[in-house]
Amino acid sequence: MKKIFVLLLILTLLPLAGCAGESTDSSKIQITATLFPQYDFARHIGGDKVEVTLLLPSGQESHLYDPSPSDMAKISESDLFIYTGDMMEGWAGDIASSVGSDVKILDASRNITLFAHDDDHGHSLDPHIWLDFDNAKAMCANIATELILLSPENEAYFTENLINYTNALTALDNEFKKEFENGQGKELIFGGRFAVGYLTRRYNIKYKSAYDSCSANSEPSVQDITALSDFVKANDIKVVFCEEFSDPKIAREIASANNGEVLVMHSCHNTSREEREQDVTFISLMENNLSNIRKGLQ
Ligand SMILES: [Zn+2]
Repeated sequence: MKKIFVLLLILTLLPLAGCAGESTDSSKIQITATLFPQYDFARHIGGDKVEVTLLLPSGQESHLYDPSPSDMAKISESDLFIYTGDMMEGWAGDIASSVGSDVKILDASRNITLFAHDDDHGHSLDPHIWLDFDNAKAMCANIATELILLSPENEAYFTENLINYTNALTALDNEFKKEFENGQGKELIFGGRFAVGYLTRRYNIKYKSAYDSCSANSEPSVQDITALSDFVKANDIKVVFCEEFSDPKIAREIASANNGEVLVMHSCHNTSREEREQDVTFISLMENNLSNIRKGLQ
């Protein structure tokens, strides 16, 4: 009797499983997120009550991205549109005036203080807020607030997911803290565009970087590259970091000065096709960063 029941249950569920992900389920809150962090946060907090779409195509560099008409259509069909903030997606501010009032718009940096860093343009605000795990928690809380407004009957569910995910971020934060609480081994060397200022600031990480920001229009000088190459040689540094989706040429050049290797420091703006197939998460990417950092410190 029991077996028949289970079989019937499986048969009933099969058609549902078959169409998951292929078409939108109108019973779920439809969310469109610009970048990977808020996409992943929304998936974790919304759970099975939401369907989240990542607006950026896989592998797309995020700073050069501009929404296409079909992206705009996708946003218009959503219940909730989440972007990082005006410093990251300058175009997102105009979305409000071009989509209907039935799309809620969330600036995920609401209530978060951006820190300023010095670069060749002087003093600018760093938009990569998610790389400080307190900010990541605040982004999650902002997302939970919006979800509860959209679906008050699921408040307890979203709140529980938020608590669980916040705890996971705290555990991650503690792992990073532990790695640096007694100072650090070798200095970290960044040979690609530099996006992880929130991370280096949070844990007081000593580093040297060829690039002073994440922007593509700040190439390091020959003197800068030579100085870094001399530094890795003098300090026997075997690892040079490079950001995902950026040209590793300069990082390789610096690493080769001491027969070292180039490892990825994933800044999590976006993910590649392979990473999406593996269903990586913000936390798994950051765990991988930590394991690469450990190699860099040796
Ligand atoms: Zn960036």
